Amino acid sequence: MAASLYLRTPKLTPSFHTLFRPLSISTTKSLNLPSTSTVDFFPPPLTHHHLHRFYATRAQSTEKGKFDFDLFTIGAGSGGVRASRFAANMGASVAVCELPFATISSDTSGGVGGTCVLRGCVPKKLLVYASKYAHEFEESCGFGWNYVTQPKHDWSKLMANKNAELQRLTGIYKNILSNAGVKLIEGRGKVVDPHMVDVDGKTYTTKNILISVGGRPFIPEIPGNEYAIDSDAALDLPTQPKKIAIVGGGYIAVEFAGIFNGLKSEVHVFIRQKQVLRGFDEEIRDFVGEQMALRGIKFHTEESPQSIVKLPDGSLSLRTNKGTVDGFSHIMFATGRRPNTKNLGLEGVGVDMFKNGAIKVDEYSRSSVPSIWAVGDVTDRINLTPVALMEGAAVAKTVFANEPTKPDYRAVPSAVFSQPPTGQVGLTEEEAVKEYGDVDIYTSNFRPLKATLSGLPDRVFMKLIVCAKTNKVIGLHMCGDDSPEIVQGFAIALKAGLTKADFDSIVGIHPTSAEEFVTMRTPARKIRSSNSEGMTGEVKAAARV
Ligand SMILES: Cc1cc2nc3c(=O)[nH]c(=O)nc-3n(C[C@H](O)[C@H](O)[C@H](O)COP(=O)(O)OP(=O)(O)OC[C@H]3O[C@@H](n4cnc5c(N)ncnc54)[C@H](O)[C@@H]3O)c2cc1C
Repeated sequence: MAASLYLRTPKLTPSFHTLFRPLSISTTKSLNLPSTSTVDFFPPPLTHHHLHRFYATRAQSTEKGKFDFDLFTIGAGSGGVRASRFAANMGASVAVCELPFATISSDTSGGVGGTCVLRGCVPKKLLVYASKYAHEFEESCGFGWNYVTQPKHDWSKLMANKNAELQRLTGIYKNILSNAGVKLIEGRGKVVDPHMVDVDGKTYTTKNILISVGGRPFIPEIPGNEYAIDSDAALDLPTQPKKIAIVGGGYIAVEFAGIFNGLKSEVHVFIRQKQVLRGFDEEIRDFVGEQMALRGIKFHTEESPQSIVKLPDGSLSLRTNKGTVDGFSHIMFATGRRPNTKNLGLEGVGVDMFKNGAIKVDEYSRSSVPSIWAVGDVTDRINLTPVALMEGAAVAKTVFANEPTKPDYRAVPSAVFSQPPTGQVGLTEEEAVKEYGDVDIYTSNFRPLKATLSGLPDRVFMKLIVCAKTNKVIGLHMCGDDSPEIVQGFAIALKAGLTKADFDSIVGIHPTSAEEFVTMRTPARKIRSSNSEGMTGEVKAAARV
């Protein structure tokens, strides 16, 4: 396997086949881009070089007069907005089409900003904030706080405030596009030929097409699935669930389990496997599951749903391979997402796709049709907002700045906003053993300072994975308060290729949980393939040797 693959993120969606293609590091010099943000407030400054290109590209388009646009983007989510705005700032004439706004997506509804802003990261995190207070109220009692009456939560107020914020954000995204000179066309886009897009019956010619239509939740075909909700609906329920079943063990499932549990719904999670978060480090999987169970979430492991029945009293029963659980007010499926490539005209023009509908692209995000590019979830590489932003920026640079740029997938950090949350970057122990054979594992499992007075059973788990040969830290994982914030910083160290000795040379910040990452002195275990007496590194790791 290529060395450039040695730092990759754990799986966040069920299918990551494309990530395992050989990837190489972009060696092109970097453009002056703003730091990654879910909201694109600051366009990159136009340098002399860009101004030159601005005139060159405009002149070219006008000269030829061949196309209405240099770039036509279908889908104004994270990747589409980033690519369109950057392309326009580089001098291209750009149009983007997007479906009309709605909180719940469909074939005919979406909204400028896309999944992250309207039905993903942002509303999800707002609900995580809302739900975390319950735990904090509990913690506060040990610190001397008491409440004359129990704090009460107002679900309708939360939904109203959240929806007002979504309206504000979609407005900001529209402004970003218009300030960059991108023409926004409302409607459903469809590819007619390699240089033509149809939006609700009106056609536009274009030199390049960018497909950034993302994906939508998928509910399996089982009897009664019409009573199930998906993550779009779960973020915008008119009333709070009293008792909810969440089917699925991926990051979206565990995040929603935390949200509803914090808000005091009764939460049951049904997973096909023994643990949540397939593809993540095994110890993290165990730890998250244990901590969530301690907070009151009921896990039904190795249980697959078979049907849903609605009873005359309106309650829902979920039948699985192991029996039936009754009395649910809601049943949510978080069982994966499918790329939005149905009826997009792609087959007709010869764009190659995977079985699940994801568009096949090369390392520059170019499809099998040279004028058609694709970024973000529709390509099913790493389905995260900052990755879609990186891919969108790379396409703009490749096509309009004449600087061929490959997205750099090494050491992409990620988080799960479960309660407690996780953060991770680099390899899992299982991947590290497979790839390097000899690795040293450092772990720390401790009661954080806050828990001493709160009296709650909260713990923190941290793990470093070190390549025995080079001493480089190749994996870093954490579950506990603030881990997404902490891991974002440490991701720089991993990507920079720092060694365990570098980590050890850092003075800790005391008292924090994060200081543990620079004070772990003794390995919990050393895994060696050489003296394994016939055991492969993988088997030894599984056996926790
Ligand atoms: C519940 C949930 C939580 C998430 N949490 C996180 C998180 O915490 N961190 C993180 O990094 N990522 C998170 N993600 C993933 C993140 O939202 C996606 O990776 C990201 O939005 C992908 O961006 P995109 O540009 O590929 O597509 P999208 O943002 O999905 O945008 C695609 C756009 O295309 C539009 N569209 C579709 N078809 C057409 C058409 N034919 N014509 C016109 N427009 C069309 C859609 O309406 C949509 O607006 C989460 C996702 C979900 C569902």
